[in-house]
Amino acid sequence: MENLLDRFLRYVKVNTRSNDQSTTVPSTPSQTAFLNTLKQELIDLGMSNVRTHPTNAYVLATLPANTEKQVPTIGLLAHVDTADFNADGVNPQVVENYAGGAIQLGDSGYQLDPTEFPSLNQYHGQTLITTDGTTLLGADDKAGVAEIMTLMEYLLAHPEIKHGTIQVGFGPDEEIGTGADHFDVADFDADFAYTVDGGPMGQLEYETFNAAQATLKITGKNVHTATAKDTMVNALQLAVDYQSALAAADRQN
Ligand SMILES: [Zn+2]
Repeated sequence: MENLLDRFLRYVKVNTRSNDQSTTVPSTPSQTAFLNTLKQELIDLGMSNVRTHPTNAYVLATLPANTEKQVPTIGLLAHVDTADFNADGVNPQVVENYAGGAIQLGDSGYQLDPTEFPSLNQYHGQTLITTDGTTLLGADDKAGVAEIMTLMEYLLAHPEIKHGTIQVGFGPDEEIGTGADHFDVADFDADFAYTVDGGPMGQLEYETFNAAQATLKITGKNVHTATAKDTMVNALQLAVDYQSALAAADRQN
């Protein structure tokens, strides 16, 4: 069996950045290549019904039930693309037995400092994985992909652990907000599904996060200052007025 950490490190080194300017599905060829790698891995593990959805490019597979009991079919999902930041040459650092304090990110001059990121203090004694400061890590969501793949391998190796049917799906373009648009719920055929794409251990979110985005172009009116009174319109002031008109709870301050 491939260790979870080794599998994760292998996945993050593959550039699968999505592109919100693209009109293809997936938005980048690198995602197609990585999804094909995952498909072959699922076949090699012995998963059933391994396939690529013809339109949305999700790689799907089934782990058949190994119990006679009638239990719901659950689904596990993760996305392969990474956020809009350099993903070329990801070079992970593994910090074992983290003792606290700042972690230098390679020679980049950047560091992860608990004074800036207090959540680091929750992880003393654990293994932390960071970048060398020149790229993102892409744990979002290669961690989810690695966890699901490793779980499938484990369950296939341990048939004494009884379970119902488990559907697995790896999809593209979550970061640009289009992956879920194309998802084929009926074809996935699960009673309940979980996206393995979270934060702290044990956290379960049951509200949908919406990363919808709008781009506003604000055009002012430039007039020679000698005759500007009551005529000039400052675009920056319009932007400030617009921001202030939004409900405080609905805007990023
Ligand atoms: Zn994610």
